[in-house]
Amino acid sequence: MPTGIYTRTEQHREINSKAHRGQRPTEEHKRKISGFMKGNLYSLGRIHSEETKVKMCESHKGEKAYNWKGDDVGYCALHAWVRNELGQPDTCEECGRTGLIGRQINWANKSGEYKRDLKDWRRLCISCHRNFDLKRKEP
Ligand SMILES: [Zn+2]
Repeated sequence: MPTGIYTRTEQHREINSKAHRGQRPTEEHKRKISGFMKGNLYSLGRIHSEETKVKMCESHKGEKAYNWKGDDVGYCALHAWVRNELGQPDTCEECGRTGLIGRQINWANKSGEYKRDLKDWRRLCISCHRNFDLKRKEP
């Protein structure tokens, strides 16, 4: 067995290089990994990162249709941020209805510019939110 400082020669590099060639996963292999990951329940019940929240938000496309801005990930991230900062009160600031949960109530953006500014957001029930957005869009 050789001991001490072991210098790799060009020949060694060539051998090592060859040994690792052809080890990239094939397209089929990638698909198998992907299919496997879809059934992965590992992340359930875990605390979600901002990135995950955006992904979850993305997956709810269409359900927020009246106020949905399409593929704008920034919109999702911003809403996740507001929820994180201000929580999810159950009272509409406009009509005063209480006990609203889930999609019955949302954070509405006052300026329409989706500022990263907590003063630019108010808690509105779905109907007030819709009215508010319609009014804002009028010229
Ligand atoms: Zn309301």
